[in-house]
Order: sequence, then structure tokens, then C-alpha cells
Amino acid sequence: MVVLTTQKATDKSVLTQNSETKQHNRSVAVIVQLDSVSKTYANGCHALVNINLEVQKGEFLFITGPSGSGKSTLLKLLYGDESPTQGDVIVNECNVAALRGDRLSFFRRRIGVVFQDYKLISRRTVAENVSVVLKAQGYTRQEIQRRLEPSLKLVGLLSKAECFPEYLSGGEQQRVGIARAIVGTPPILLADEPTGNLDPDNSWQVIQIFQKLNSFGVTVIVTTHDEQLVRRCNHPVVQMREWRLERKS
Ligand code: ADP
Repeated sequence: MVVLTTQKATDKSVLTQNSETKQHNRSVAVIVQLDSVSKTYANGCHALVNINLEVQKGEFLFITGPSGSGKSTLLKLLYGDESPTQGDVIVNECNVAALRGDRLSFFRRRIGVVFQDYKLISRRTVAENVSVVLKAQGYTRQEIQRRLEPSLKLVGLLSKAECFPEYLSGGEQQRVGIARAIVGTPPILLADEPTGNLDPDNSWQVIQIFQKLNSFGVTVIVTTHDEQLVRRCNHPVVQMREWRLERKS
């Protein structure tokens, strides 16, 4: 079986072909693992076909590919928003498809997700948007305050804590989305086309924030079709093409 893995040691995506190598990779802190994963939606639409992927802790991985190639679906499987039709998805040592109810909610606390369209609540301030998840999880006011400040600082928005989203630029709104994703200090950050609505300067700012988080040990997985942005970074890249994962040439 061909397993598409990415290894920090070489900073390059590599194909491993035998079970011995695969076994070795497993012992090196694998945080995301997809084994023969396929996804066909209820309407018969194929989104993923026989995906094998391992991502190690602390890695920064780009997933590129044209629209409709399956990138969003792959991320949705990682945070349990969709289930695979076939195969296993293991994240943070959990078999994601087997999680239900409280166990799924608890699992999601350990994954930060950033969306292309920010998904901010328009009637809430920046601070409220970032802390909404912590509030729902029952954190005390002091604990929320303690976590809020460093998150907003990291994305450069401490001075805009009391602003409403409509008064922020697209880049600022996306940085609120990032602060919300990381305020619970998850070990994994997933970003689905996070720069899709941004100009090159704001896109680069977003990537630099991801790189900073990655330097703190957060595993970062970013989908994008911005080839220029990917080329500007020195991170491993895998490519989706017609629902399959390929090594980037
Ligand atoms: P990408 O993120 O690369 O644009 P997607 O994962 O969104 O790709 O989509 C992959 C394929 O799955 C596309 O053909 C898309 O139309 C289909 N698809 C995505 N979401 C759904 C859904 N909820 N129901 C049915 N088909 C879907």
C-alpha cells in the first residue's frame, strides 16, 4: 500500500511503500492518520478516493488542488464534521468516525478550525467572538480573560477587542477567526482556504501567524489553491487531484 507521508526531517513530502517504513513512521508521533479513506456523499458525489496520509506532530502541511478536488472534505473528516464512507481517520489518537455526543465535543476542543468566510457572529464584539467557545465550555470569566489577551495579542488585535466585525477589514476578521481557533490552545490547527478572500499582504500576514503558532509546536494543516503563497513558504505540500492525494512534484 502506498502511504503519502510528510516528514519534518527532510521538510519534503515522501512516498513510503512498505509496511516496515510505515511502522517506523507510526512510532514517530503521528498526530493525523488516514488509512484507505474514501468519501462519497449521499447524492453519489465522490469527494475522496483511497486517501492515505500521515502527518507528524509539529508539522506544517499545505494541501493544494483545484476547486472540487476534495480538500474541504478531507479537513471535515479530520474535525468530525463528516464521516468517511470507507477507511479510518485517526486524529489525536482518536478514531474520529467512532465519536459521538460529548466525546465528539471534547475531541473538537483539541482542534482549532479556521474558515475561508471567517464565520464570525456579527452582533458580537471581537472579544466576544473569540471567547464564545470558552464560555460554552464553562470557563470562568477570569480564565476567559487570561486566555483572551494573549490570543488577541498574537493576531495583533488587542486594540480592537471591543469592535464589531463589520468595522474590521477582511484580514482583521480572519485574524479574529484565528484567535477564536487558538484560544483553547489546541495542538492542531486546520485552516480551509483561510486566504481565499484576502489580498496578498493580508494572506501573508495570516500565514506568518500560522508559522508562529507552528514554531510553538502546533501542527498546522492549510488547504489553499494559492500556488504563489505555497511557493513563498518552505513547508511540505501534498496535492489533491480528482479526489486523490498526490505527491507534489
Ligand atoms: P474542494 O474543497 O477541493 O473545493 P470539496 O471537498 O468541497 O472540494 O468537494 C469535493 C467534491 O464533493 C465536489 O465534487 C463537491 O461538489 C462534493 N461535495 C462537497 N460537499 C458536498 C456535500 N455536502 N454534498 C454533496 N456533495 C458535496
